Amino acid sequence: MSINELRDKHGRHIHKLRISLLDACNMRCLYCMPEKQVFMPNKDWPKADELIYMATNLVKQGIDEIRLTGGEPLLRADFMEIVHGLDKLPLKKFGFTTNAIHLKKHLKELKKTNCQYINISLDSVNRENFHKITKTDSLEVVLEAILMAKELGFKVKLNTVLLRGMNDHEIIDLIDFAEDNDIEIRFLELMKIGVVLPVFDKLFISAEEVINKVKTKWSLESVEMPVDSTSFNFKTNSGGNIGFIASESRPFCGGCSRLRLGADGKLRPCLMLDDGPSLRGLEPDQFYPFLLKVMDLKPHTRINELIQPMHQVGG
Ligand code: SAM
Ligand code: SF4
Repeated sequence: MSINELRDKHGRHIHKLRISLLDACNMRCLYCMPEKQVFMPNKDWPKADELIYMATNLVKQGIDEIRLTGGEPLLRADFMEIVHGLDKLPLKKFGFTTNAIHLKKHLKELKKTNCQYINISLDSVNRENFHKITKTDSLEVVLEAILMAKELGFKVKLNTVLLRGMNDHEIIDLIDFAEDNDIEIRFLELMKIGVVLPVFDKLFISAEEVINKVKTKWSLESVEMPVDSTSFNFKTNSGGNIGFIASESRPFCGGCSRLRLGADGKLRPCLMLDDGPSLRGLEPDQFYPFLLKVMDLKPHTRINELIQPMHQVGG
């Protein structure tokens, strides 16, 4: 179905699409959004059929991987309608990123689709600490959903944002949880985005520092990763799989293969750019020239910081 291989002016093969389904969320992770937040009115979100139309045309031009995100994608009542629509596309990889509060109820139906790659945020395995970071009392529900997804055979990864003085004492417990359940865990460096900017220096921990902590318990062997992987990974000597997404200390912009469709219908060339031209209302033959224009706007080196909060960008 795909007719083009999309290459930008730096020779990067652009083939991955993140679709943010909405900016709203049922958590209030302290590094992502303020406790009081006004969200886009639901009526302004692109509807399921519009999203499917836009994605179908992007796939025709060379996109072959899609990940749904937000905000919290499972808050959309039409989440499964969107999944079923995108499931018809010839994708190499199809998945979503979620906080997992509403995951369990969708798993059986999801299992019948190609949407098998589920990244789940898990910043703590301690109930009080989980509450401190996410402002919700949902650790148990989230852990149950993780185990059920794994049990059903989904490709599950855990995403943990480490914050100095908040959850860095849980590194070993988090790895133990992941390893006991045969799940890959990835530690994300806090990024200079939105609400976290005033406290970034206080909370930031580099991947290098985390690796040194991990090495006090495990020896690590490097794993070979694809050129456009955002993480670099290790196997532990007890069989665990740990990744690091070091967006601040080891940015991966030179190998970036992504575009981002926002909940406002705009196609952003980069996570760190707070705007992009709107895809809404395009005719099928307008997608290719449009993509060339957006790819041209893609930076090659890391933009230092972004004022807009992450839940609006679609992490
Ligand atoms: N709500 C879903 C979730 O939490 O998995 C999907 C959206 S969330 C914005 C996507 C990812 O972005 C999560 O793994 C979250 O931890 C991460 N994130 C949010 N703000 C961040 C920041 N300032 N730095 C690094 N990662 C961040
Ligand atoms: Fe919600 Fe995800 Fe942001 Fe947490 S990181 S507030 S779960 S969008």
